[in-house]
Amino acid sequence: MDAIMTGLSFYGGLDEIGGNKIQVSSQDSSFFFDFGLAFSQANTYLSEFLQPRKANGILDFVALGLLPCLKGIYREDYLRHVGLHHTPQPAVDGVLISHSHVDHMSYVHHLREDIPLYLSEESYLILRALEETGAATFSEFLHLKKSFQLLPKVRGEGYTRKTIPVDREIHLTPPYQEFQVGDFQIQSAPVDHSLPGAAAYLAEDEDGMMVYTGDLRFHGRQPELTHQFVKKARKAQPTTLLCEGTRINSTGNTSEEDIQKKAEDVVNEFRGLVVVNYPVRDLDRLLTFYQVARNTDRQLVVSLKQAYILDLFQGRGYPELSEVLVYQPKRGWGMVSDDTYACQDDEWICSSDLDPELTRRDYRTWEREFLDQDYTINYRELQENPEDYIFRCDFFELKELIDIKPKNGIYLKSMTEPFDEQMEVNEDKVKSWLRLFNLPLLKGFHASGHANREEILDMIRKINPEEVYPIHTEGKEQFKVLEEDGIKVIYPTRI
Ligand SMILES: [Zn+2]
Repeated sequence: MDAIMTGLSFYGGLDEIGGNKIQVSSQDSSFFFDFGLAFSQANTYLSEFLQPRKANGILDFVALGLLPCLKGIYREDYLRHVGLHHTPQPAVDGVLISHSHVDHMSYVHHLREDIPLYLSEESYLILRALEETGAATFSEFLHLKKSFQLLPKVRGEGYTRKTIPVDREIHLTPPYQEFQVGDFQIQSAPVDHSLPGAAAYLAEDEDGMMVYTGDLRFHGRQPELTHQFVKKARKAQPTTLLCEGTRINSTGNTSEEDIQKKAEDVVNEFRGLVVVNYPVRDLDRLLTFYQVARNTDRQLVVSLKQAYILDLFQGRGYPELSEVLVYQPKRGWGMVSDDTYACQDDEWICSSDLDPELTRRDYRTWEREFLDQDYTINYRELQENPEDYIFRCDFFELKELIDIKPKNGIYLKSMTEPFDEQMEVNEDKVKSWLRLFNLPLLKGFHASGHANREEILDMIRKINPEEVYPIHTEGKEQFKVLEEDGIKVIYPTRI
């Protein structure tokens, strides 16, 4: 059979790690694998306080090459607001989200709400957490807030500026259950990655079978998922494989068990506060440090944001919310203990003697349900009994150290190494904070979410497609060896 089935258009995800936006088209239908943000492209132009403007709809994103210039896929409010044409029907039949990392799904925000999104239940839950707890401007993943709407004032004359909430069309995809997107028969295949709910996809039309790996690994907590996917993909005898190659230049693996053992060895020998930073949505890593805490007679303290995610994932093999502690940071007036005061009737009253409701107002609605619980903890306890806790502290929580004043603590870095300028700048800042509080920085507590070279090549040989497209990689030429196995390696160009 002739290899090329259907048309493939790459709008990101080639020669770069992330930014996957891959359009698959047959005669009468088409869909996207992922619709993510490209870190490299975004970092070329943008920084924390230099961001595209919503006022320009999609135009800033298009001008910077972040969004492809395509008709019929973007939301009506953003198009019409800047005088662009909106088509009555969407130009694609769906977007298949492999997982909820921003480099795979972030630009869903810009898509019209009648383009159906297909994703796993866990990916849905993470998008829900991102949407409800995030503060970013462009984060309307599950619900769109129609912007630039003028509605008549309830009282009086004239109009008022409003946003109107609209649900997106969402389809949850149970593992290996076929569903139809346009002319394609699709199956979602769960794989192991560094956050819950990652999926690969098998997509078939009359021209053949195409397999998309998304991001995956074999050394996580659920390698059997990835192995099962490889088996099913092999059995499907695919024409085309779109294969991630993030670590095609790397050998070896660190597993969660390795991290746990190493961390336990360190923590067991230590009496002060253990501070750790790991990715907020990596619940496997949370589980690792939860176990480290248990095995070293400590308790894991997590942020409100991580508590929210953990709450959504109760009953799915992660710790119960009541088995961790939730840190209440100072917000607004900061009245979390008895060292702040407020003036009431000309008298300065200690915050512990004030109505607790006044403190709750400092927090967002979703945060309030985690306050005043048995598991809620503040800096005081960490300050008084540092040897009892492992405190997860991300970049934005470093300021909590000012209140906690850790004496004789350590900091375990459980994150990937910086891979762009912004991350390097932030890493330097972390080091400054650690110096300020005399916290030694200990590294080597990170496990990658991606398969290594040998595993990738072995997987491709097992699946044995007619042709493979290296994606999500900066080392595509490393795939060339597969030609010896009779697998055609194709290097497409970005559109
Ligand atoms: Zn990923």
